Amino acid sequence: MPARTLRGRFLRPRADQRTFDDLPDALLISDETGRIVSFEPTPPGSGVPVTLPGVVWMPGFVDAHVHFPQTRVVGRSSGGLLTWLERTVFPEEARFDRGAYADEVAAEFCKALITHGTTTAAIYGSSHPLATSKLFAALDRSNLRAMAGLTLMDRGAPPVLCMPADTALLACEALIEQWHGVDDGRLRFCVTPRFAVSCTPDLLRRAGALAARYDLPVQTHLSETLDEIAAVAQAFPGHASYLDVYAAFGLVGTRTVLGHCVHLSATEWDALAASGAAVAHCPDSNAFLGSGVMSLADATARGVRVGLGTDVGAGRSFSLRRTCAAAYDAALSRGARIGPDEALWLATVGGARALGLEAEVGLLEPGFACDLAAHDVPAGLDTDALFDHLAFRAEVGSVKNVYVRGRRAV
Ligand SMILES: [Zn+2]
Repeated sequence: MPARTLRGRFLRPRADQRTFDDLPDALLISDETGRIVSFEPTPPGSGVPVTLPGVVWMPGFVDAHVHFPQTRVVGRSSGGLLTWLERTVFPEEARFDRGAYADEVAAEFCKALITHGTTTAAIYGSSHPLATSKLFAALDRSNLRAMAGLTLMDRGAPPVLCMPADTALLACEALIEQWHGVDDGRLRFCVTPRFAVSCTPDLLRRAGALAARYDLPVQTHLSETLDEIAAVAQAFPGHASYLDVYAAFGLVGTRTVLGHCVHLSATEWDALAASGAAVAHCPDSNAFLGSGVMSLADATARGVRVGLGTDVGAGRSFSLRRTCAAAYDAALSRGARIGPDEALWLATVGGARALGLEAEVGLLEPGFACDLAAHDVPAGLDTDALFDHLAFRAEVGSVKNVYVRGRRAV
């Protein structure tokens, strides 16, 4: 891996505040392991040329919630969550029983992440083991950082997408063996029960046991829509809440990322905070499916870790910049405005912390990975205008160079 010296304008995230310092001319040096060794304002008289004129460098985006097999159904408006799953998603996800199809889409998926400046993603893989393995292979080749898992379902979906717990758990073990920890932890396996509606108690219990046995992260959906919550209450009687269903099966802890969390009571927020689980906030998806608006303020007030998820394909774009705009709108609509810088911070540092990568990803400090993207921006923007531009003008400008551990993502 090459050691790198990059000179230019940088947005450097703060560790303890949801904002960035704007460094108009800084020098970032990483070593051959891809770690940052120094990052300082460029000293006077430095002979290092500006690396890419006209760009601003910032940490790569972290997509805390995205579905690989929905790459080709982005923006299909067929109804609310449960209808949309039945009409749009399940028929498309069924196509991934063909390895060749999965290969093609995996290449498109990785390209879409890189094109939008995303360097890390928490990915719901296919329900088909071969397709999920193809996804891992594409992520490996692309040099992206990810956690991903076989999307587990054993009921409530077409038979081609359902797999009995015995078979599914064996498939997970094979994927763990092959992909978990590859390239010094750049790729990780994540236990991924789709949601309680599509899993029997037996499958959830064994998923929880698998996560404990291998010390793996867990991701699933929680309280996205009212219909879904009613379906869970019916399928799992006797639980105090939807969160309690997952908790009862050992799926909720500090390594858990819960997507959506739109309809949580204060008591549920308290329980979620006490569990140490993190939240993937997916505001564009929530708007598109009419699911509701998550209360970011409730999470923030309790110190819950929050990242932003595009939730493609319910989210209409792979762009975390678009998701930042949606997060701004969502907060505003609940009377709890956030700044564009806070949204951008959640899309970088927030996501890294939500995914348990806080020691390596997000901040641009010595010891952290050189995971960066260069965004082409108009000349002459002051700091506030730059935050506004990045969060609200996603259609303007492109992403030039994307690095993971100092190596180009391709
Ligand atoms: Zn989702």
